[in-house]
Amino acid sequence: MLLSQRITGLTGGGSDGWDLFYKARRMKAEGKDILELTIGEHDISTDPTILAAMNAAAVSGHTGYAMVPGVDSLRRTVAARIQERTGIETTLDNILITPGGQSALFAAHSAVCDAGDTGLYCDPYYATYPGTIRAVGAKPIAIQTRPEDDFEPKQADIEAVANGAKSLLINSPNNPTGVVYSRKTLDGIAAACIKHGLWLISDEVYDTQVWEGEHISPRSLPGMAERTLVVGSMSKSHAMTGSRCGWVIGPEEAIAHLINLATHTTYGVPGYIQDAAEFALNQGVGLEEKVAAPFRRRRDIASKIIASQNVVRIVPASGAMYVMLDIRATGLSGDDFGDALLEQEAIAVMPGESFGASAAGHVRIAMTVADAQFAEALKRIVNFAKGLTQ
Ligand code: PLP
Repeated sequence: MLLSQRITGLTGGGSDGWDLFYKARRMKAEGKDILELTIGEHDISTDPTILAAMNAAAVSGHTGYAMVPGVDSLRRTVAARIQERTGIETTLDNILITPGGQSALFAAHSAVCDAGDTGLYCDPYYATYPGTIRAVGAKPIAIQTRPEDDFEPKQADIEAVANGAKSLLINSPNNPTGVVYSRKTLDGIAAACIKHGLWLISDEVYDTQVWEGEHISPRSLPGMAERTLVVGSMSKSHAMTGSRCGWVIGPEEAIAHLINLATHTTYGVPGYIQDAAEFALNQGVGLEEKVAAPFRRRRDIASKIIASQNVVRIVPASGAMYVMLDIRATGLSGDDFGDALLEQEAIAVMPGESFGASAAGHVRIAMTVADAQFAEALKRIVNFAKGLTQ
């Protein structure tokens, strides 16, 4: 029986660029001691206080069907947090609670793209972006960014492909680059969206992990609140990746329709998970900073080690849980560098190419192992790169 083109074509065919990741996993399964710096998952678990709140909510009976749009008190808590951080009036009617940021990305594109429409996204990109756009029947078109611009998208490059497109998906703080978009970049993005009638889908799941500069939500820029859908999540900010709790923030009308979509797809998020998320958000910035602190420390460790040599360059690591290294001076592609590093040093990193053509000649390093181990790995990566140039 034939399956739909939408589902069989979801990944776009061809290699997904994750060969090296799977190779590292295979080597590990064969008993080899591989240090994995690949995946964006914290090396700490969800805080015990959040787990206690989750348990209390479940035991007290919040285990039946929950409100599909999200529990009112969680929607209110998210709205208040966003209003406080952006200055833009936000109520519970602007919030849909979703099973994680990924589901929010799908919902946001469903809200604004019809079958056959074009959805824009920036390269390098988080692995699921093109597939998420295809999943709603739209056509993903990448906007190339450049290492010399620290991978921040330029207004002219957006405008070059914006004609007839429906949406633009951006992500700051950025995975895979660790770059936090500047005000100038966001102003350019906003101008392009307004000029070409684009919806902006702003993935802000790393908004609590900023080491330098400032996270500005583009929804707060003039003329943008009515055309922006913000994707948020508890995954990264509160080490709750497995709890699957996130949200879409947007104009009331869009959220009203998205509630319909949720009724026909996810049917909401478990009540005890929502209660735990509300508890976590009510702990304020203290808990967020505790979760972010290891990445801040490791980012400083990486910056220091990279500064001590001139073969490997670091892309300004201003936020998120990754550092991106420019290894073009070795003459190798990110794929070949990553493969040789895995074979010779038993260290697994993600080749830049797996995030799109713009990041060729780079590797992404997840800062997700203990500080001492991370420092040791970075030194070995740098020495390995130096060795290739001699
Ligand atoms: N957006 C970005 C940029 C990510 O890196 C991730 C996960 O790694 C997600 C969205 C999805 O996160 P979640 O669905 O766990 O909220």
